[in-house]
Amino acid sequence: MIHNYTEVVVQRFLPEVLKEYAKNNPGTCTCIRCQEDIMALALNQLPPHYVVSDEGTIYTKVNFDQIGGKAQVIAAITNAIKQVAANPRHDKSRP
Ligand SMILES: [Zn+2]
Repeated sequence: MIHNYTEVVVQRFLPEVLKEYAKNNPGTCTCIRCQEDIMALALNQLPPHYVVSDEGTIYTKVNFDQIGGKAQVIAAITNAIKQVAANPRHDKSRP
């Protein structure tokens, strides 16, 4: 199976970055729809890094060096959160 390793890493860190952002910015939507939008935007900002794995392989160790470093990943996620929070693709009162 081919995986985009960048996707694995963004998926791993999105929840905690979003939680931290929402803590500092009350009212930030954290619904699944927005999380998917955030993930797509963040992934578009980061270089893909494809890896091949056998089915069932679990990534237990995150190697940031392969994808430009942890700071770059966190920055891309934060940028994406800001974009989605400013313009959610659904009614603000109805996630
Ligand atoms: Zn939302």
